[in-house]
Amino acid sequence: MLSYRHGFHAGNSADVLKHWVIERVLSYLTQKDKPCFYGDTHAGAGMYFLNSDIANKTAEYQRGVKKLFGGAAAPLPFSRYLSLLSQCEAEVGADAYPGSPWWAAKILRASDRLNFCELHPQDYPKLEQLFKRDKRVKVFNEDGFIKSVALMPPPEKRGLVVIDPSYEIKSDYEKVVQHIVALHKRFATGTYALWYPVVDAARAAKLEHRFIQAGLKNTQLYELQTELPENGGMYASGMIVVNAPWTLTQDAQKVLPWLSLCLSSSAVKAQGKDAGFRIKTLCDE
Ligand code: SAM
Repeated sequence: MLSYRHGFHAGNSADVLKHWVIERVLSYLTQKDKPCFYGDTHAGAGMYFLNSDIANKTAEYQRGVKKLFGGAAAPLPFSRYLSLLSQCEAEVGADAYPGSPWWAAKILRASDRLNFCELHPQDYPKLEQLFKRDKRVKVFNEDGFIKSVALMPPPEKRGLVVIDPSYEIKSDYEKVVQHIVALHKRFATGTYALWYPVVDAARAAKLEHRFIQAGLKNTQLYELQTELPENGGMYASGMIVVNAPWTLTQDAQKVLPWLSLCLSSSAVKAQGKDAGFRIKTLCDE
C-alpha cells in the first residue's frame, strides 16, 4: 500500500514547474484545430486546498506558488499559468491549488480527450467526483504504468502523456525510462513529460544518463533548484520532455531564471545567477 498523498506537497516549487510545463505543451498542441489526447499516469486528487491540515503540515506551498507574487513581473510565457491559477481561485476558492488533471482539462477543448489513472483509495474518488460531468474525461482506478501503455496509440495521433510518480519505490527511477520507451514505441509522435525529484544527485544523474542512452529524439530537461543539497530532502526537481514543442526551450530560457529568482533560497542564488536552474538537451532532434 502506497502512503504518498500529493495534498502534503500541493503548490510547492516542483508543482509550479511541472504545471507550467504542462500548460506550455498543451497550449502549443491546441494551436492546431485537430483534436488531441492527454494522459496522466499518476493523476492525484485533481484539486487541493492550501488551508487544509494536510497542506499545512509542511506548508510547502509557502515556498512555492505563494512566492510567485510581489517580486519582479512574470515573463510573458508564464502569463497563462497565472491567469489559469486566478480562474481556479475564482471558481473553486481563494485557497485552492489545482492538480495536473485540472490544468489539462481547462486548456483542452471540447474535441479533445483526457484519461487519468490514480490508485490511492482516498484520492481516486475525489478525482472521479471532480470530473464526473466532463464527457471528455475517463478516470481509471488502475496502475498508470500498465494502463497508459494499453491506451497507446491514441486515435487522435497527437497528444501529451504526463508521468508523475511519487518515487516511493526506488526502482521507479529506472522504470520511468523503460515506460516512456514502451509508450514511444507505440506512439512515436506523442509528447511525454516526466517529473523527477532531486534528493540524491547521483540517482538524478543516473536518470539523466538513462535518457541519453535511450536516445529518444528531441529529449529536453528543465530543472529548478530551490535549496542546497546539504539541507537534506528534495532540493531540486525537473521535467524531462520527449518530443518537446520547439517553443518550450525558448520559453524556459525566459521563465526558469525568473522562477529561480522567485523560488530559490538566497543560499542557492549566492552561488551565481544561473545556479538555480538547468536547461539541457539530452537527445537532439
Ligand atoms: N500529477 C499530480 C499533480 O501534478 O497534481 C500529482 C501526482 S502525485 C506526485 C502521484 C500520484 O500517483 C499519487 O496520488 C499516488 O496515489 C498515485 N500513484 C502511485 N502509484 C500509482 C500507479 N502505479 N498508478 C496510478 N497512480 C499511482
